[in-house]
Amino acid sequence: MERVVDFEGLQDYVDIPAAARRLLSKPEKEIHLNLNLKTSSDDLIEGDCYVVYDCTVRGPAKGGLRMSADVTQAEARRLAELMTLKTALAGIPFGGGKSCLSISPTKLSRFEKTAVIKEYVHLIRAELERGEYIPAPDMGTGPTDMAVIFGETHIPESVTGKPPRVGGLPGRLEATGRGVSQAALLALDAILSRPAGQATAAVQGYGNVGSHTAMFLAEAGVVVVAASDVTGGVYCEDGLDPWKLKEHVRNEGGVRGFPGGDEITNADLLALEVDVLLPCAREDVLNGNNAADVRAALIVEGANGPTTREAEAVLVERAIPVVPDILANGGGVIASYVEWRKAKSGALTTKEETFELIDDRIRQAFDVMMELAEDRGCSLRTACLAIAVQELVESMRDRGWI
Ligand code: NAD
Repeated sequence: MERVVDFEGLQDYVDIPAAARRLLSKPEKEIHLNLNLKTSSDDLIEGDCYVVYDCTVRGPAKGGLRMSADVTQAEARRLAELMTLKTALAGIPFGGGKSCLSISPTKLSRFEKTAVIKEYVHLIRAELERGEYIPAPDMGTGPTDMAVIFGETHIPESVTGKPPRVGGLPGRLEATGRGVSQAALLALDAILSRPAGQATAAVQGYGNVGSHTAMFLAEAGVVVVAASDVTGGVYCEDGLDPWKLKEHVRNEGGVRGFPGGDEITNADLLALEVDVLLPCAREDVLNGNNAADVRAALIVEGANGPTTREAEAVLVERAIPVVPDILANGGGVIASYVEWRKAKSGALTTKEETFELIDDRIRQAFDVMMELAEDRGCSLRTACLAIAVQELVESMRDRGWI
C-alpha cells in the first residue's frame, strides 16, 4: 500500500521504532459501504462510501467528506493519512480520517444531495454519534451539507464546517485559504526575501481554497497574475481582481471568460514565471510530465497532494522549494478544532480570533520546518514529515501503544 510517509526517506531525520512503523504503515480502520437511494420506480442514486480512520493516537479521526464520481478507496486512504500528519504538525489533538462518496454532486439537485447526505449519516450514525469520526467540507461538499449532518445527529461537535448561524465558526469558510496565504507570505519572506508588495502569484483552482488564498494574498499586496479552474484560466500581468473573479465564477460557473485578463490554459498557468505558484485544485497536477516546465521560484501547496513523488524529485533537483500541503493547508483543520472546541464549551469566537490562531499555528510549524530543513539540508516536505512523525511516535509512547 503506497503511503505518504516514506520510512526510507525519513530515516536520517527521525528515529521511528519498529512498532511505530508497523502502526504507521496502514490505516487503523476502513469501512466500505454501498449507498443506495431510490429516486423513482426504476432508478437509484448509488455510490461507494469509504470511511477511513488512518491514525487516532492523537484524537478522534478528523477529515473532510469528499463527493466526486471518481473517488476511490486508495484516495480516501491517502487523504486520511495526510490528515494524520497535518493534525500532528499543527499540534492539535485530532487524528486523521476521511470519508468519500463516489457520487457526483454536480448531477444532484439540492433536494437529492440532502437525501444522499442524510443516507450517509444513516450508514455511519454510530461513528458520528460516538464522536470517533468528525467530518468537514472537502471537494464537492460545503457548509450546508455539514448543517444537514448536524440536523441528523443533533450533536454540534459531531461535524465542523457548519454555517456560522448554526454552530459554525466565523472564518471557517476562509480558513484554509487564510492558512495557505499565510504560508505563502512566510515563504516569500524567509526563502525569497521578497516583500509581499513586490511578489507575483498564480493560483490553480478557484474554489474554496484557491479563491480565498488569492483574496488574502491580494489583500497583503501580492499581485495575483493568474488563476484557473476546470473551465480554463485567465492571466493579467498587472494583476487580477480576485473579488471580481470570484463574482464572475459565482455568476458564470467558472473562471473562463473573465473580462479582467487574457485566456490561458491550466498547463500555461503551471509554467508561468511567478514568485509563487499555488496549486489549490486537486491531487497530482504537478507530475513527471510537467515538473520540468515549472518556472515559479516557489510552490505552496493549497490542495492535498498536488505534487507527485516524481515531480517532487524534479523540483528538488531544480532547487524549487515546495511548502507541502500538510503545513500550508492546515488552516482548515485548525479552524475545525476551534469550532469543535466551541461546540463543546459554548464559547463564542470571532473571525479575527480564528485568523489569529491560524496565523500563529502556521507560523510556528513554518519556523520549525525551516529550522530543520536548514540545519539538516533536507527538503521542506521531508522536514514537515519528520516533525509530524516524531509527534506521532511520542504520542504513541504517551498512550502506551509502543
Ligand atoms: P472546491 O471544489 O471548492 O474547488 C476546487 C477547484 O479546483 C474548482 O475551482 C475546480 O474547478 C478546480 N479544479 C478541479 N479540477 C481541476 C483541474 N484538473 N485543473 C484545474 N482546476 C481544477 O474544492 P476546495 O475545497 O477548494 O479544495 C481544493 C483542494 O484543497 C482539494 O485538494 C482539497 O482536498 C484541499 N483542501 C481543502 C480544504 C477546505 O477546507 N476546503 C482544506 C484542506 C485541503
